[in-house]
Amino acid sequence: MVRLRARLARSQSTLGRGLLELLSRDRLDDEAWDEIEETLITADVGVGPTRAMVEELRTRVKVLGSRTPAEARGLLREQLLAQINPELDRTLHTSAPGDRPAVLLVVGVNGTGKTTTTGKLARSLIGDGKTVVLGAADTFRAAAADQLQTWGDRVGATVVRGPEAGDPASVAFDAVARGIADKVDVVIVDTAGRLHTKTGLMDELGKVKRVIEKRAQVDEVLLVLDATTGQNGMRQAQVFAEVVNITGIALTKLDGTAKGGIVISVQRELGVPVKLVGLGEGPDDLAPFDPEVFVDALLG
Ligand code: GDP
Repeated sequence: MVRLRARLARSQSTLGRGLLELLSRDRLDDEAWDEIEETLITADVGVGPTRAMVEELRTRVKVLGSRTPAEARGLLREQLLAQINPELDRTLHTSAPGDRPAVLLVVGVNGTGKTTTTGKLARSLIGDGKTVVLGAADTFRAAAADQLQTWGDRVGATVVRGPEAGDPASVAFDAVARGIADKVDVVIVDTAGRLHTKTGLMDELGKVKRVIEKRAQVDEVLLVLDATTGQNGMRQAQVFAEVVNITGIALTKLDGTAKGGIVISVQRELGVPVKLVGLGEGPDDLAPFDPEVFVDALLG
């Protein structure tokens, strides 16, 4: 919690403290409400959720009259939480029924943090006593498999890789086959995020998924999204959502942005839960997403 608060410092100072300061004012005139709305929009909360929040806050403030700082905080906490879709199931599916490994597919545009998130996730699973195979299905970038290998060596996971520029689906298949043969608990397949054309992406990811499914069910398709890319990232996310059935989002680089409100907009627009958050480049800088812990860290 203390670490989360420190890592979210940039979002905290705008979204958290900024809004708290505004909302604690004795008199909230139209100008103040405009400022509240602007703060939410600037933090990437999204237009719909911002309108809903401002409307609800206005009604509540009218009833309450003047507010103590604690009351202002309570109001804000409640409204932020309401917008975070608390009802979404955030379970990360890392256990499979029977004796096959759980299979996770990691997708997203290059540079968003796919490989890093894969490595950190492996680290956390291994920390929980599970065994892990990583599949380097990003065969388009020469350095990608090396980068994953470095993570594998670092955290103690086996890495399955193919020839450079080889077929990503065949690497994915080999990784799952290895996971089954070695009776490991989890196979995580890191894919290439080439958003050249929607049909190209669909063909590529579709094939990877189909080929894996010859051996095992895919339990989780995790979309990695860079929180610093704002609306551009949201558009990318929408394309991926049209191509594969995303079951969870890993929102990375939240440590480097004041736009933490993307947690709200991405879930609203895609209807998919944020399950993990990336809070830095280190092996332990990945955390499960818990709405209450997140909002409390934002509000300081
Ligand atoms: P990929 O191309 O999607 O596999 O992206 P990489 O995993 O190579 O990550 C791209 C860059 O983002 C690297 O420099 C990572 O260290 C960095 N990165 C990934 N996740 C995070 C995060 O949560 N916070 C920060 N600050 N940097 C991150």
